This record gives sequence, structure tokens and C-alpha cells, in this order.
Amino acid sequence: MDAPRRIQLHADDNVAIVVNAGGLPAGTEFEDGLVLTERVPQGHKVALEDIAAGAPVIRYGEMIGAADRDLPRGSWIDEFKIRVPAPPALDALPLATRVPQPLPPLEGFSFDGYRNADGTVGTRNVLGISTSVQCVAGTVDVVVRLIRERLLPKYPNVDDVVGLNHLYGCGVAINAPAAVIPIRSLQNLALNPNFGGEIMVIGLGCEKLLPERLLPQGVNGDGSVLRMQDERFQGFEAMIEEILVMADNRLAQLNTRKRQTCPASDLVVGTQCGGSDSFSGVTANPAVGFCSDLLVRAGATVMFSEVTEVRDAVHLLTPRCATPDVARALIREMDWYDRYLQSGGADRAANPSPGNKTGGLANVVEKAMGSIAKSGTTAIVDVLAPGERVRRRGLIFAATPASDFVCGTMQVASGITLQVFTTGRGTPYGLSMVPVIKMATRKELSARWHDLIDIDAGRIASGEKTVEEVGWELFQLILDTASGRVRPWSDRWGLYNALAVFNPAPVT
Ligand code: CA
Repeated sequence: MDAPRRIQLHADDNVAIVVNAGGLPAGTEFEDGLVLTERVPQGHKVALEDIAAGAPVIRYGEMIGAADRDLPRGSWIDEFKIRVPAPPALDALPLATRVPQPLPPLEGFSFDGYRNADGTVGTRNVLGISTSVQCVAGTVDVVVRLIRERLLPKYPNVDDVVGLNHLYGCGVAINAPAAVIPIRSLQNLALNPNFGGEIMVIGLGCEKLLPERLLPQGVNGDGSVLRMQDERFQGFEAMIEEILVMADNRLAQLNTRKRQTCPASDLVVGTQCGGSDSFSGVTANPAVGFCSDLLVRAGATVMFSEVTEVRDAVHLLTPRCATPDVARALIREMDWYDRYLQSGGADRAANPSPGNKTGGLANVVEKAMGSIAKSGTTAIVDVLAPGERVRRRGLIFAATPASDFVCGTMQVASGITLQVFTTGRGTPYGLSMVPVIKMATRKELSARWHDLIDIDAGRIASGEKTVEEVGWELFQLILDTASGRVRPWSDRWGLYNALAVFNPAPVT
């Protein structure tokens, strides 16, 4: 068996996690004399000292809970032995009190992207078909198939066609306050830089969300919107033929797009984690955080999200906000989500999942400490409400649910052109609109899922690579992927999840 290996992240921590695959048996003795009093699974916590009942359990230098009973040195600490603390109060947080100084600029990095008229830069050249109501989803599926068969072969510079199908539009309380979220998300999805500004909308005709509302201000609906209920159509085939004509016009425009060298500052990269384990905060997320710093130093935009996985670490983030106003915006999003969960009779403890716990994460506090590592160390310069479009460069908090599919969809609406996704347990996640680079937290997962995982951060836990080395690898992989030189596994398989627009408003 390999020598027993554990990782203690912070000098103040009174727990460490076991690295060895399969965990370690009772009686295992570490080099420094620590002996396990019971079996500890991989990724799970071992007490480094005697922790008395009620005393804090500390990981990441932060209290992740209070000991539920006496925890002797060498014992296994699972979710049942820690009591979850209350989340940080939102009314007394420090605002912009420890704003990080800018890091030295990183010059000379570029990628080959598609520059748009509005100044944004895409990483792909895709025809997006927007929809105003779920009723047309089946029609859009038919049309997408026909476009692939009949039209795409004529336009070699266009990568793909994507239907923006969703579950909104009909049977919704369109004027409810929270309806602003799904509506602006659908509006902004169609504006994603990868669609090149060639917007077309398929609607039904009787839906509450009028198709015209999905067009940007100033764009004429003529030739951009098709309603299936229009009386001029005799039969389904006539509608399909007209949609194909609309698509053909847009494909001809998209086909004129050419990749050109763009500075790395034109990248908008989203980060999220899914199927996390206790290595997420040790290997993959810190490597993503280091890479986030590199991207910000290069002038690019980086988003982190997932409100319930940030909530318990918010006291570490508000001091990092560039101004008190940005910090207040962050608090506003946390408060909104607290009330949203409360209205549904839930709280943040609904996260983590059973798989997270199997992977060693005892509770949402421990998960949050690992999750925010993705944000790196730079100042948070802006906060976006769910589905708002990005409006400045640098590190941004884009408020979204932590659900992988909702977070992904909302980040695409906010304008990401590439996403980095970290996973410990493994998930076959992918987005059809933007490339997704999947990074595993453990070597075992990278080996088993060798044709799904793009980059292995498990080499950090094994000591083969440093966080910085993997962070640089990721940075280079982002530039290559954004340039179309490397296709991540989800694109090679065509492995894509459906859009999942966040709708906190009532359904009627
Ligand atoms: Ca997630």
C-alpha cells in the first residue's frame, strides 16, 4: 500500500483529510506518529488533536462546525459528529475593508476568437434559435435537425446550431416581481457572444412572454420573429420552410465570421463546481483560483457563482469587494436567496448532496470554504443579479443557484464564452453554447473517466504538481480551447445538458 498521506490546509486546522484511494484502516500510523483510531474513507477528515464536545472543528482556518461529542485525536469526523453553525449575519459584515492590491499585469497572451460588432468576442460560431415559449420546443428540435442536414454543410465556418429550449413563457405569472429573472435571462441568452448577434425567435402566438420581448431594444421584429399561430401558415411544413429561410439568412452572415487574434482580456470565463468532494477545495478549486488570478491579471473577466455555496463564506468575500457598493450588492444577493429559500420552507442546509457527503464534505460550511477557492485572490469588482449581462472586466460574482444546470444556463445568459467545471464525484456535464473544460479533483476519477475529464488536478494531492503548475496548465488550455485548437471531451462526444433557466416566480 502507498504510504499514508493526509492534507492539512491551514496551520490553524485541527483536522486533515485522508488522500489515499480507498481510505485508510484503523491503526494506520502516519510518519509523525498520528494513529487512526478507526477507518477513515478517502477525502474524509481525521482529528489531529483531541477536540472536546462543543469545541470548533477548524478547516481552511475557519470554523466549519462544533464538535457534537468528544472527538479524540485520530478519529474519523463525519457529518454526524459536527453541528452546523449559523450562517454569518448579513447586517454586520465588513465592506471593502481588505481590498486586494492589483496583481502585476500579465501581458502577451491571446486567443483566436470571433469579434462581434458590439465589441464582445465569441469562442465559437453558433446559430442560436431563441424561443419565447416551451410549446415550440419540439418544433425547434425538428428545425435544428433539418438545419444540420440541409443547411450547415453549405456553411463550413459555422460550428453548430443550437435551439434555446426552456420551460418558460406560458402558464407563468408574467408580472410577478421575480419574473424579471427568467425574462432577462432569456433575453440575454440570445445575446451570448458565441451567437454573433444573429438573433431569431420562434414563438407560438398566444404565450404571455411576447416573442418581441426577446429581441434587444431597437431590433425590428420583422424577419426576426416567427409565430406558429399566424394565419398565413397553411400547415406545419410551411412554418418549417419559413424558419429554414430565416436560418439560412443568418447562417450566411455567420459564415463570414473568421477567427482573429484577440487579447486574452476579451475572454469571459465562468467557473463552477458540481459533484464536489473534500478535495475540491484542496486541488481543483485552488488551481482554478490561481488561473482566475492569471486571467484577471491578463485583463479578462472571470465569474464565480452558486449562492448557497458562497453564503457561509460571505464574511471572507465582502472585505474583498472593490467598493462598499459592490459589497452591499453581494449582501443583497445573499439576502434575496435567504428569503427565496425561506419562502420554500428550506435553508442552505439543503446543500450539500449525499454524494458530496460520501466525498467527505460534512456540511455546507465546509463546502463553501472549498467552493470560494475558485475565486482566487483578486478584488471582486462587480456583482450581477441572476441573468444580468456582464458589464465590466475582472473578477465578478454572478448570483445563481448552485445547481449545475441552472448555474451554467445563467452564466451563459450573463455572457460567458467558456466555462471551467470542477468535479470530485464526477458528472458528465456539458453546454452546447460554450465549451466546458472539466477538471477532476482526484487522480482516481481522472483515470476512470479518462474520456470525460479534460484536466486532472488530483496530481496536486499526490504531490506530483503544485496548484500553480496546474493553474498555468488550465490557463493555457483555456486559451487553446477558446481558439478552437482543443475540443474538450463534452464537445467531442456532443454531450450537452438542457438549458435550465432560473424561474423563482409563480407558475399559474
Ligand atoms: Ca454547481
